[in-house]
Amino acid sequence: MSDVTETHCPYCALQCGMGLSPAEGPVPVSVVERPGFPVNRGALCGKGANAAAVLAPGARLTTPLVRDGGVLRPAGWDEALGRITDALRATAAAHGPDAVGVFGGGGLTNEKAYLLGKFARVVLGTSAIDYNGRFCMSSAAAAGIRAFGLDRGLPFPLDDVPRAGCVVLVGANPAETMPPFVRYLRELRDNGGTLIVVDPRRTRTAELADLHLAPRPGTDLALALGLLHLVVADGRTDEAFIAARTTGWPEARAAAMALWPEHVEAVTGVPLPRLRAAARLFCAAGTAMVLTARGPEQQAKGTDTVNAWINLCLATGNAGRRYAGYGCLTGQGNGQGGREHGQKADQLPGYRRLDDPAARAHVAAVWGVDPASLPGPGRSAYELLDSLGTDVRALLLTGSNPVVSAPASTHVGERLRALDFLAVSDVVLSETAELADVVLPVTQWAEETGTLTNLEGRVVLRRRAVDAPAGVRSDLEVLHALADRLGHGERFPTDPEQVFEELRRASAGGPADYAGISYRRIAAEDGVFWPCPDEGHPGTPRLFLDRFATPDGRARFVPVRHRPPVEEPDEQYPVRLTTGRVLAQYQSGAQTRRVPALNAAAPGPYVELHPVLAERLGIADGERVAVVSRRGRTVTPARLTTAIRPDTAFMPFHWAGEGNANRHTNPVLDPISRMPEFKACAVRLERL
Ligand code: SF4
Repeated sequence: MSDVTETHCPYCALQCGMGLSPAEGPVPVSVVERPGFPVNRGALCGKGANAAAVLAPGARLTTPLVRDGGVLRPAGWDEALGRITDALRATAAAHGPDAVGVFGGGGLTNEKAYLLGKFARVVLGTSAIDYNGRFCMSSAAAAGIRAFGLDRGLPFPLDDVPRAGCVVLVGANPAETMPPFVRYLRELRDNGGTLIVVDPRRTRTAELADLHLAPRPGTDLALALGLLHLVVADGRTDEAFIAARTTGWPEARAAAMALWPEHVEAVTGVPLPRLRAAARLFCAAGTAMVLTARGPEQQAKGTDTVNAWINLCLATGNAGRRYAGYGCLTGQGNGQGGREHGQKADQLPGYRRLDDPAARAHVAAVWGVDPASLPGPGRSAYELLDSLGTDVRALLLTGSNPVVSAPASTHVGERLRALDFLAVSDVVLSETAELADVVLPVTQWAEETGTLTNLEGRVVLRRRAVDAPAGVRSDLEVLHALADRLGHGERFPTDPEQVFEELRRASAGGPADYAGISYRRIAAEDGVFWPCPDEGHPGTPRLFLDRFATPDGRARFVPVRHRPPVEEPDEQYPVRLTTGRVLAQYQSGAQTRRVPALNAAAPGPYVELHPVLAERLGIADGERVAVVSRRGRTVTPARLTTAIRPDTAFMPFHWAGEGNANRHTNPVLDPISRMPEFKACAVRLERL
């Protein structure tokens, strides 16, 4: 029998299959290929290939820390847990239950996300819970629900991508964020399909495209409206599909026709001939897909922007049939499952709504509590962080590093410091953990078992491959211990499979129905796609083939109108700034910055700008420059490249301190998804 443990990568939403083989030396396992897993067929990016390094002793926390006299010192678990429960009790007694907050993460397993939401509602009785996934895919989720009645990132398996006639990637750079995905794009091209990439930068992904459109950051909505206008003007809409399977076309059509292509050219900076070429390629394909990522989504109009792209799909009959449709490329490891099981402010497990009486009754019955005892919806992630120290006075935080990853990060750091009490569970002493009153060392991917749901809606099983270091506990054990001290221990199992069994019951009958999924089935079937309502059900790789998940079964056009980014360049701040990721780092970098091979490949922050802009400002390649916005100042080397628009600068957001890109990002929120406007703000660049 092989001693290789079949499991999955700790990082992104592709959830590549990998094997962990026992190894000699400080790192107890080495990563090996798992060619049988269909999503990545053995391929891994550098992050996955080097994932075992974060298991090395010395790279991580192994003892609780408590703050005394302003400094963190090692402590026992009893003392650390006691400090937390004392603080939670005192805060709730003095200020009410909503003064205690919980902040989770899109990398947490389904079991952790589920139990965290239950802990907030049942033990703390607080509405103040949300998570960093709000910053990831909430606009796509909101748009998907508006149009299709259901949010699952991809309504089809990745295997369908190469079979489309045309794929449009909008604000997505998988060649750097999830490189094994690129094989699907190569297969698409090999099959004769066309690839269109929409990105202000000529990224590694854009290099692969048949056509690259480079709009100004924050103008993707206008671009989608312009394409729809051209499609209508050319008579290329699919009237039979529109009549049979949609509602709301006249209003959406009128909204698109109100924006002239010449105006779209002026707003986006994309030349009209390229816009026409894109419309032609999209319509010439027998089947077409639009896949969005954070570019169009992380805007204060992100929901409308995604709906504009969905409208284009619906108008051309590219939805609800094979090898066509709209999908979102989720970012975080459990970006999909993390948004389904109750750590979101307005949600109960199974993607149920917290304000739905029937949903409350169902979940309360599973939890053995009175539905009336469950609090109502709370604040979204940024609003929760913004309320720290005023409304929310004590915070439990796990699986997140908002000091680096939240918008307006200087302000968020100030709010965290203003708390009466902060407890952080993490694997490493992240920049956010450094601010805590109590830090709890918790297990990580290869030291624990749990399920995640990848970007396709495929539920996969990460398996424990090594023992955790002495002194470390799992998040499930932490929640049990805290609940126990607060009188609810019996409701919080510590065995992941037991938690999953409860999750199955809680999700049963909900939109994200996991009732028929078991650890046994996941292992036997290379993952199971939700919804899967019973054990005899095969799972649902493709959604919407017969009907959409709306009450009348029809997809809904949403009429949307262009408006500019909230912060436009002006005399004081004349340059647009956009942000993103690089190949060798992941999110806030808390783990990847500690992996030597990755750090060597991407050692620090920079600001990317076009030589034309650099010359105008007198900035040389490699020169350290100040980037100044209304919210802060960073100092970082300039990197000159012709791959970016001359009116735009780009900063990757993986680093803390003086190069932290999120010091600049604008926390103004989308009115529906509550997504901050990460992708477009105004800055000026100064020579030092
Ligand atoms: S693409 Fe994502 S899941 Fe796959 S190895 Fe890289 S980081 Fe891990």
